[in-house]
This record gives sequence, structure tokens and C-alpha cells, in this order.
Amino acid sequence: MKYGVISDIHGNLVALEAVLEELKSFEVDRFICPGDVVGYGPNPAECITRVRNLDAVVVLGNHDAAVCAEMDIGWFNPFAREAIIWTRDQLSENDIKWLKMLPLTYDFDQYIVVHSSLAEPQAFHYIQSTSDAKICFEHMDSLRACIIGHSHVAEVYVREEGKSAIQRIAMQDGGELRLECDYRYILNCGSVGQPRDGNPYAACALFDTDTMVFQIRRVPYDIREVQLRMRKVGLPDILIERLEYGV
Ligand code: ZN
Repeated sequence: MKYGVISDIHGNLVALEAVLEELKSFEVDRFICPGDVVGYGPNPAECITRVRNLDAVVVLGNHDAAVCAEMDIGWFNPFAREAIIWTRDQLSENDIKWLKMLPLTYDFDQYIVVHSSLAEPQAFHYIQSTSDAKICFEHMDSLRACIIGHSHVAEVYVREEGKSAIQRIAMQDGGELRLECDYRYILNCGSVGQPRDGNPYAACALFDTDTMVFQIRRVPYDIREVQLRMRKVGLPDILIERLEYGV
């Protein structure tokens, strides 16, 4: 099976469309979204509709949870909070109902999808270091790979079975990794709608479970158009500006 992995879309429909266009040529069998369909961006309802129409595997992100009132928003910085409150007003009852029904994890074959860490998935702990990854690996049991988002940085953590050393691999555009037997992996596909690794291009991944290759793709999109839409609806400047820097 060939999976297209699209995480942290964050209401950025222009980036989502660009990524889906890019993935078209790879004949993806199914899409996986490790959470945060909404929050930050100007088109949350449209992004929900688009993802629902893909019949994607979707798990709950922290912004999704906050928007549908499944999580305390006091935890967020003031700009994210403002965007969450704005996003709530843009969604229909049906959209909110759909967000509320999203599971925290989804497992298939030897893989599991979660927004952040498998350690207390409902707490959305970040995986940004090998020590964060270690805790997640401890919850993987016999699963081969854990597919995540949340940090908005495309990277992979690898641990050989029975060993404690963990390697962190930064994944650039086009960068690919073949999963080996006897190793466990945490695969982060980066963010479609708000990358934070200094590269403003939308990030997505291809994961082929036949060849066992995980590949990162970076896709340019019309950032100005998204900024215009955000300005028009009064979303915070800092969220508008960061898109062009990818931070
Ligand atoms: Zn996010």
C-alpha cells in the first residue's frame, strides 16, 4: 500500500491543495492525517471537508481537540488561542461533531498513527529529542513504526530492537529512508500548513508499506494568498508572517 501522509494542515487549504496535487502522480492508495486539520489557518471548514472527502485515516490533534472543546485552551499561547476561538466560529455543528469523533490513535498492520507521543496521547507531549522519542518507543511494543506530526518538523527517530541508542535523522525535501527489519521507527512527516524547520514549503510524506520506503516531499504553494485570506479575517499578524519564513 502506498500512503500519502498529510499532517498539521491547520486550516491552510491552499497548501493542502498543492500537496494533494503533488501526491497525485504517486498514485496514493490511502491518506493518513496525524492530526491538526484546523487551527491557525483561514479555511478550517474547507480543510475538514477536503480531508473527509479523501476518506483519510485521521487522528485527533491538540488544535482539533481545543476547537471542539475536548481540551483546555489555557495551555496554548495567546495567538494560537485567538486562532482556536476564531476557528470555532467558522465550523458547523457537523464539523465539530466530526472532530469530536476522531480517535487519539489508529493502528493498522504493524503501524500506529498518533498526533504526538504514544505516552499519554491525550496530553500531546512533543517529540523533539531522542529522550522524548525514547518514551514513545517504550509504548510501541511490537509495532514497527509510529507515524506522527505535532512538531511541524519532518524527521525520523530510529532504534534498533533490543538496543537503547536512538538516532535522529533530519529529513530534507526528497529525503528517503528504507525501514529495516529489527529496527523501530518514529516517522514525522512535517506540517502541510505551517512548517517550522526554516523551509516555508508545505511538507508531506509518502510511505510505501511494500517497499518500506518513507519519503518526504516539500511543495511550494501560494503563501501570499493564504496571508491575504488570514489578514482579511483578522487572524494574528505573527501567525500570518511566520508562514513565509517557515518558522
Ligand atoms: Zn500542529
